[in-house]
Amino acid sequence: MAKGSIPDQSPIYMDNAATTRCDPRVVEAMLPYFTEMYGNASSRNHSFGWQAEDGVDTAREQAASLIGANPKEIIWTSGATESNNLAIKGAARMYARGPEGTTGRGHIVTAVHEHKAVLDPCKRLQREGFDVTYLEPGADGLITAEMVSGALRDDTILVSIMWANNEIGTINEVPEIGKLCHDREIVFHTDATQWVGKMPTDVERDHIDLMSWSGHKMYGPKGVGALYVRRRRPRIRLEALVDGGGHERGMRSGTLNVTGIVGFGKACELCQAEMDAEGERLLKLRRKLEQTLMGRMDVVAINGHEEKRLPHLTNISFGFVEGESLMMGIKNIACSSGSACTSASLEPSYVLKSLGVGDDLAHSSLRLSLGRWSTEAEVDEAIESIAKAVEHLRTMSPLYDLHNEGIDISTIEWQAH
Ligand code: PMP
Repeated sequence: MAKGSIPDQSPIYMDNAATTRCDPRVVEAMLPYFTEMYGNASSRNHSFGWQAEDGVDTAREQAASLIGANPKEIIWTSGATESNNLAIKGAARMYARGPEGTTGRGHIVTAVHEHKAVLDPCKRLQREGFDVTYLEPGADGLITAEMVSGALRDDTILVSIMWANNEIGTINEVPEIGKLCHDREIVFHTDATQWVGKMPTDVERDHIDLMSWSGHKMYGPKGVGALYVRRRRPRIRLEALVDGGGHERGMRSGTLNVTGIVGFGKACELCQAEMDAEGERLLKLRRKLEQTLMGRMDVVAINGHEEKRLPHLTNISFGFVEGESLMMGIKNIACSSGSACTSASLEPSYVLKSLGVGDDLAHSSLRLSLGRWSTEAEVDEAIESIAKAVEHLRTMSPLYDLHNEGIDISTIEWQAH
């Protein structure tokens, strides 16, 4: 079976960083495990169990091969949220120094613009007595080895820095940070959810101890993820979050999601085979998207480092337009905005704010993420819609008129009456 094309879809899907379509080849690989090979992978007494176990073993090999690991180092989870929780809480509690509930249990380093699935476990650990440093990126959004190095202390037990940011696609200095941690014998975890399957990964070369990723970001099914846990040089131990039948080397009990795992493995195999060509193709499309929009309009800014970014993702702010009106104007494109709905209000993205992007520009930013089925025709249509919407909104903006008259509106003193 080939990857196939998608019958004309409306709206155009440009939100692949949120989730991807499951590849039909992945679905095909999963199907027999629902209805024919439906055994429990832990059943040792009959062929149903053996078949299921074979499926899981193959997937373990496919996942390990994608990241240069040993299959024994793959722990199945329900997704990257769980993988991050297991890695961060599991390592912190295992390598903690003082008794629970006391201060001085150990120091953890992470960054302010990590995903909530990293930040929230860190906050919980703070309540348990761990000390956490949240590094702040510069305007380019990067976390460098130098920043991490400056934060390390004698009692640092864990560093968790994501490989690529989910909102802006920037790529942190993960191999260098890993090397630094290995030299200092500090456990290093990376949330690689947006990275694995898109970019070459080698846990040995890149000095990774713990790495999280997820099926549904790489054309696999939702609800299945993996955690890489290093077994040698050094052997990393984790305190389990879920106790039960001792599955997954005791680190994650529970009957394995065989169908999901089989799909995850197939998705890894496809990514490994197609990553280079896919990355090249999507980079060209992303460049076209960015360059055409920037060439056609002024006051358009790309958020995050210009070069050190994922090939398929861009985050662009448009000055002098109001965010919600912009989203209303591009209903034919499914993408994310720089605002997050928290309760009744729209909050500007904390990731963009951490780069120093102002509230207005954060609200009027779009995250456009391309994927396996994105076409040039779709990119052309998106460019046209976005440009038209922005140009239309600017015709109604008195501030844009002032800007065109050469007035720097940041110097205007507004009077309140
Ligand atoms: N980390 C990052 C960087 C992500 O982008 C996501 C998904 N938005 C997650 C973690 C959570 O992944 P999952 O949906 O598999 O729990």
